[in-house]
Amino acid sequence: MNLQIEAEPTGNYLLRPAGVFDGEQLHPGWAVLVRGNQIAQAGSADEIKAPNDTRTIDLPGDTLIPGMIEGHSHLFLHPYNETSWNDQVLNESIAYRTAEATAHARATLLAGFTTTRDLGTEGAGYGDVGLKKAIDNGIIPGPRMIVVTRAIVAAGSYGPKLAPELDLPQGGEEASSVDDIVRVTREQIGKGADWVKLYADYRWRPGEPSRPTFTEEEMAAVVRCAHDAGRPVAAHATTAEGMRRAILAGVTTVEHGDEGTPEVFKLMKERGVAFCPTVAVGDAISQYQGWKKGVDPEPERIRAKRASMKAARAAGVTFIMGGDVGVFAHGTNAREMELLVQEYGFTPLEVLRQATSANADALQMRDRGRIRAGLLADLIALEGDPTKSVAPFRKVRFVMKDGVIYQQP
Ligand SMILES: [Zn+2]
Repeated sequence: MNLQIEAEPTGNYLLRPAGVFDGEQLHPGWAVLVRGNQIAQAGSADEIKAPNDTRTIDLPGDTLIPGMIEGHSHLFLHPYNETSWNDQVLNESIAYRTAEATAHARATLLAGFTTTRDLGTEGAGYGDVGLKKAIDNGIIPGPRMIVVTRAIVAAGSYGPKLAPELDLPQGGEEASSVDDIVRVTREQIGKGADWVKLYADYRWRPGEPSRPTFTEEEMAAVVRCAHDAGRPVAAHATTAEGMRRAILAGVTTVEHGDEGTPEVFKLMKERGVAFCPTVAVGDAISQYQGWKKGVDPEPERIRAKRASMKAARAAGVTFIMGGDVGVFAHGTNAREMELLVQEYGFTPLEVLRQATSANADALQMRDRGRIRAGLLADLIALEGDPTKSVAPFRKVRFVMKDGVIYQQP
């Protein structure tokens, strides 16, 4: 059996779905012509003149959309109800975790996510740099990856934590002081980080609430180094103060934001910082901790999330679709999109825009996220009309990345 994936785009394709969602709007009756790894033409089916050697693929009843962009993944993690985070970091070898990550990458691509921003290997070193290369070289199927390598945590703040005498490998790379954090930032970039990820706050001891870790000055130093190297910065921040410092330090995105206040979201809007709320991770962890959804009352964590999301929407911040997938199963990335519609009041159309054009804009990827001539041929087809309901989000019928077909009806 040949498991090698054809890395080179193979030819011209005319894709004829029921409609095309171009990243902004639905266009019934459109078709898309692909040449090599690019979109050559998108428009009314009867106006597209396909060259002679074009292969036509009919997708009746389906909507063709841009390959979706996962805003927040961890391909080196698997669900915590299978193995706790501590045990994954301490007991699973990097070889084992890498083998798992290859399966996670494949599941992500086949779920219609042709790009993922992978926000930290959580103890698996620089494995993401190698995984990305293996995907790009066609050795394994997977999404285009944005990688951050190890992520930066304040010394003493992260985990795993067992007996204090034990010097354990940590889920992120520790730094302390401006000089130290500058060195770590530059080293991670030199080893392959496309973005830099830092933790603006965390729980200092297990069971404690999160509190700020890095100072605004330390985070500003990370941002300066990263920007010098052409890299944006993502900040994990759940507390209002951690968010405030990260925003003022100049990060590009804030992850989680569970305790965000109207004031902090207003600041985020003013500074043009995008917000990745990761509602699915709270939903997953609450259930792992025993919450019987639909039976038990909502845990405090979920109620607080509802309030902060309301404040974020009222402030008009830019949302990024990203669920923190890895804490829950890879390939079920659409869980975030479903929850945003079913529990947080977004429309399917708004969420679909987030997962395509809005994520591409906020994550600074102008070559994808829309269906338009000249952009990358990252295209998927969903059964039915995903601009009207969430049901089609997981009904992926066709997957093309870089002009190569990975799944078709
Ligand atoms: Zn995460």
